[in-house]
Amino acid sequence: MLKGKTALVTGSTSGIGLGIAQALAAQGANLVLNGFGDIDGARAAVAAHGVEVDYHGADMSRPDQIADMMAFAAGRFGRIDVLVNNAGIQHVSRIEQFPTERWDAILAINLSSAFHTTRLALPAMRAAQWGRIINIASVHGLVASAEKSAYVAAKHGLVGLTKVTALETASSGVTCNAICPGWVLTPLVQAQVDARALAQGVSPEEAKRQLLGEKEPSMQFTTPAELGALAVFFCSAAGDNVRGVAWNMDGGWTAQ
Ligand code: NAD
Repeated sequence: MLKGKTALVTGSTSGIGLGIAQALAAQGANLVLNGFGDIDGARAAVAAHGVEVDYHGADMSRPDQIADMMAFAAGRFGRIDVLVNNAGIQHVSRIEQFPTERWDAILAINLSSAFHTTRLALPAMRAAQWGRIINIASVHGLVASAEKSAYVAAKHGLVGLTKVTALETASSGVTCNAICPGWVLTPLVQAQVDARALAQGVSPEEAKRQLLGEKEPSMQFTTPAELGALAVFFCSAAGDNVRGVAWNMDGGWTAQ
């Protein structure tokens, strides 16, 4: 379905971003990966689908590096057809104790980076009369949890940016939508599981049950593969007129 197209997924060396990159590659898209950590492992996992893969190590908190990455991707593949704004970090703390440096980093990486990639990707998408922008928000783009002020603010902002982008592209072949996952067992959430296990003196398995039990009626983690399938749907012809939605995949979290 995406043969000959190019997708750029920010934060795609791990977790949800890697799952979405693999799902798009399985549809034939060439990929530009981004993020830190196990770069070779991510490249190999995506290249296994028989597509071309390249990588740019831009730090998503740095607008200059984001611009460099977007120019690199366009130079390498001609154009970015599918942009997935996925890179994100978390910090859990009450507002009074929240480190101001963490607030700035979360706003920059989880929100402002999507503004920069979007503004730089849109001209070529408009010229091609086709494009997909998929913002990985969160249930925390729809509802709040205590001790996640920066994350909730950034994700609500990302849902807002999604709607504005959808309106500004509404009469074109470019669509913009957000995906709002509940708990997904990635390194980002494993850190919260480990912190809870330590604080409560319980096993990691019990900490996972507690996390799910507080928020997610299904008592199941959503998987990166399931989120990848939703991203593929947004890229399909059936998604041509799906614009500005914030689509939750959250085991009933926000239905309560
Ligand atoms: P993860 O920690 O597994 O992956 C995060 C990715 O972002 C990694 O590739 C990392 O290298 C990259 N990254 C981090 N800082 C970066 C920076 N400054 N520049 C470039 N890349 C950077 O986390 P994940 O759970 O897969 O999260 C991916 C996205 O999904 C995030 O936006 C997160 O907020 C969102 N999300 C996650 C969950 C969940 O339960 N895991 C739920 C809802 C939304």
